[in-house]
Amino acid sequence: MIQFSGVSKWYGDFQVLTDIDFTVGRGERIVVCGPSGSGKSTMIRCINRLEEHQKGRIVVDGTELDHNARHVDVVRREVGMVFQQFNLFPHLTVLQNLMIAPVQIRGVPKREAEETARYFLDRVHIAHKADDYPANLSGGQQQRVAIARALCMKPKVMLFDEPTSALDPEMIKEVLDVMVKLAEEGMTMVCVTHEMGFARTVADRVVFMDAGRIVEEAAPEAFFSAPKSPRARAFLGQIM
Ligand code: ADP
Ligand code: MG
Repeated sequence: MIQFSGVSKWYGDFQVLTDIDFTVGRGERIVVCGPSGSGKSTMIRCINRLEEHQKGRIVVDGTELDHNARHVDVVRREVGMVFQQFNLFPHLTVLQNLMIAPVQIRGVPKREAEETARYFLDRVHIAHKADDYPANLSGGQQQRVAIARALCMKPKVMLFDEPTSALDPEMIKEVLDVMVKLAEEGMTMVCVTHEMGFARTVADRVVFMDAGRIVEEAAPEAFFSAPKSPRARAFLGQIM
């Protein structure tokens, strides 16, 4: 579903990603972790071309991300993304937040877009907030709306960039529960998160990054109980 081969990226003179080789199979759930500044966000943002790589190849579901704008459009149709800071439109209601992209970008008829929106709001247990504005929702509720909004575009892959790190502790679980459900239903997922309970429950593989490189890749049990690299051991020592 996703293939990185020898991917490198620079911000000016600063090399943020070095020679990344990374494969995600259909239906696989990957957790990406590592110290702050190690390039996790940059790597997953390359998957939907929010960031451009300068070297190597990235192929998503058979389409290469290159300078062909049509290729980028094809990939973006298939990839949904959820950010740390929910990024909901503040001037739109919850329902409108879910309908705007399907209607305006995809040309989905309004009635159909509303039906889909209500379906996914129900799935994230927030149907009763459809007519509220984001500011009137808790952080956990806003993040569940953001997940539902991404799902309304019927993505084949979901990317999560630290979706619970801006949340109060009591709201983390309600968001993780939604993500676990999605994983159980077979969604291909790449999640940057330090929620190790989540990683143990759903991840097929944990990818550990440090200083722009993938340092270690292992099944969660192996990674958490016996990390191979000193850097992963040091990292786990800090967060666990
Ligand atoms: P992580 O998500 O692991 O914390 P990031 O991918 O956000 O790491 O950032 C990796 C490195 O790249 C950091 O040193 C950060 O300061 C730098 N960086 C991120 N975005 C930019 C940018 N737009 N311009 C320059 N440097 C950046
Ligand atoms: Mg980040």
